[in-house]
Amino acid sequence: MNQLEKTTFWQNLDQQHHIHPFTDTADLNKRGTRVITGASGVFIEDSEGKRYLDGMAGLWCVNVGYGRRELAEVAYKQMLQLPYYNNFFQCAHEPVIELSKVLAEITPVHMNHVFYANSGSEANDTVVRMVRQYWNLKGKADKNYIISRKNAYHGSTVAGASLGGMAGMHAQGGPMLPNVVHIDQPYWYGEGGDHSPEEFGLLVARQLEEKIKELGPDKVGAFIGEPIQGAGGVIIPPSTYWPEIQRICNEYDILLVADEVICGFGRTGNWFGSDTFDIKPDLMPMAKGMSSGYLPISAVMVGDRVADVLINECGEFTHGFTYSGHPASAAVALENIRILREEKLIERVRDDIGPYFRKKLATLEDHPLVGAVESVGLIAGMPLVADKKTRKGFEKPGTVGTICRDFCVENGVIMRACGDRMVLSPPLVISHDEVDELVKRARAAFDATAKKIG
Ligand code: PLP
Repeated sequence: MNQLEKTTFWQNLDQQHHIHPFTDTADLNKRGTRVITGASGVFIEDSEGKRYLDGMAGLWCVNVGYGRRELAEVAYKQMLQLPYYNNFFQCAHEPVIELSKVLAEITPVHMNHVFYANSGSEANDTVVRMVRQYWNLKGKADKNYIISRKNAYHGSTVAGASLGGMAGMHAQGGPMLPNVVHIDQPYWYGEGGDHSPEEFGLLVARQLEEKIKELGPDKVGAFIGEPIQGAGGVIIPPSTYWPEIQRICNEYDILLVADEVICGFGRTGNWFGSDTFDIKPDLMPMAKGMSSGYLPISAVMVGDRVADVLINECGEFTHGFTYSGHPASAAVALENIRILREEKLIERVRDDIGPYFRKKLATLEDHPLVGAVESVGLIAGMPLVADKKTRKGFEKPGTVGTICRDFCVENGVIMRACGDRMVLSPPLVISHDEVDELVKRARAAFDATAKKIG
């Protein structure tokens, strides 16, 4: 079979049996699946031999880049030595014990315990159970409301989708978890009106206080937020937002949960988004960059305040997954963290490639479609707008973003469209030349989009 025949073969087979996540299957079948066959560094390759610069690091996860032999080798060695054993019933194994120690080192100082799962969604399910159990043990079982934000993404299990504020997911998912409520997101560009970003940050943060007063502080157990909302379109909060959220959580005795699934492991130029925004979370769900996506693993980092109660007063916490702290995944996560440390990739994001990325992306601000370029470290969002002056979007939100995303693919760069916000989150190893190339290809896609929509 030649390349084209091979592609057709796989596409046909894919259509017959595979239901894709977050995909309109009818539309996919019309277009044909892009079959990805290999990857190296910041590039992926499809079955027709076309290479794309992966501006999304997969799904915001391949932080150390593709093709790392070290990660494959530790997985192989671990699978030969001990491919599986669980951490239930008084057991553990070396990789998971060592990983726990290392996570305690790299997370904020008041976080010293960890609970493992396999995905960001499972980590957030764990958060819900921990929050409830913590307040039960404190004799305050009524503190079982969790406050989240509209347009947040916390996963697609029932708990994850309920915590998330994605209207489309709520519409499809049937009844969501009770006692989860959503306040506005700190999206100044799209929703800030005439306020300054700083004023708007305070206003939306204070919605948390209003909601707590409305429900009653004795009913609210936790607030959850991504330091930067990723799937919502890379919404970077104004500088006033997180300090005010922190004040409110402290004042009303509400647990603060920072969902670090995207921001963790260097994306924002520090180990965690909580470091970048000076947040002191009680619980920190994490996944993705923890293993750079080479094997599935996630965790909830537990602050001392919660850990003391869960460990000393709980007896058995009746929660866990068959693969909680899987040995091969734990070994890969450890090696991944070793790479991040030894190659100083996070310092590089903070001091070198992050600022360069920001500077180069800023050159796109002169484009008639690009309303702004917003970035922290190696995560960026660019709203496409109908009117740059008034920050006004398009009549049918999401249409122009989708057109642009398709032109990106045509131009050999993977950029994602969250509605009409084009977002980027490349591997942390991206070079200066590759940033230049990314920006060049992005501009070509923006030009093609502008031409198409007239
Ligand atoms: N939390 C955040 C902030 C995410 O971005 C995601 C996934 O994108 C999740 C949770 C869910 O993670 P998973 O897809 O591994 O279940």
